[in-house]
Amino acid sequence: MSLLDQLPFWKRYFAELGIETVLSPVTDPRISAAGIDMAVAQPCYPVQVAHGHVLALAEGGVDYILIPNIADAEGGEGQSCPSHYCPWNQTLPWVLRSAPALAPHQHKFLIPTLHFQLGPAQVKKALAETMRRIGVTRRASDRAVEAAYAAQREFQEKLLAAGRRALETLESTGEPGLVVVGRSYNIYDRGVNCDIPRKLRHRYGANVIPLDFLVTGREPLVDTHANMFWASGRKILDAARLAASRPNLHVVYITNFKCGPDSYIKHFAREAAGAPLLILQFDGHGNDAGYMTRCEAYLDSKGILRCYQPSTEPPPLRAIIH
Ligand code: SF4
Repeated sequence: MSLLDQLPFWKRYFAELGIETVLSPVTDPRISAAGIDMAVAQPCYPVQVAHGHVLALAEGGVDYILIPNIADAEGGEGQSCPSHYCPWNQTLPWVLRSAPALAPHQHKFLIPTLHFQLGPAQVKKALAETMRRIGVTRRASDRAVEAAYAAQREFQEKLLAAGRRALETLESTGEPGLVVVGRSYNIYDRGVNCDIPRKLRHRYGANVIPLDFLVTGREPLVDTHANMFWASGRKILDAARLAASRPNLHVVYITNFKCGPDSYIKHFAREAAGAPLLILQFDGHGNDAGYMTRCEAYLDSKGILRCYQPSTEPPPLRAIIH
């Protein structure tokens, strides 16, 4: 789940150690149905889907499965407020271990407890302890952590540069833009969000900008909600605040039924955006009709539906991160 935010970090970490990494497949109905069946309690949909992904990896024959217990996110300069992940996220490794269907695969789980807020020293120590089990030395692990931090920073800088270019283009053309906010496993997983961000682009030609292209979550939130202690809450509020400062930006908030933190973050997001925003709540239904109707109504209510011409052919996917 929160690994999605840190893929460059983990890819580089394991590459430095000479360990091949395999990602679980793109979420599909089979993976999500398996996750829903396996989950013991009644968690939110992303946690259920995570069960399906772990099973897919285990059955795919990998040797180990990294399921870190990530307690918090990296803080910003002088940031005094903690930046926690929600309890479902933090306890995911143990929630997965309690699922009977995953019991035969438990010996493959690697579960370091990571406090990114405490800085690289804690991350190095925790990873070295976990990786010792598979024969990685402390020195090699520490070196890989340093390279991993650098890779993550480099990636985030490229994202922000692409975001700045997108904002400049909107500014110069006068076109509106849609800032998509939410958690990475909600906004980037097409199997979870009915591929709505992409459909906004393809069906309406909307200029869609995910929040990671605009903010890092390490920015101070003094003037909006200084005490926002959820990591993704910080990013969501900061992106909403940025949208409020530009009249041509409008916010689409992708969330989940049963998401505790979002149940109140979304009220603060409305305040930070300074204008009504569109909240799309997903719960595993695969039919997009209701969502698209709401999207169209939102674009219309903002007076920007007419700016967009529906395209008959989806534009090809292309990388915009150079
Ligand atoms: S933040 Fe919300 S969606 Fe994410 S794990 Fe927690 S309850 Fe689920």
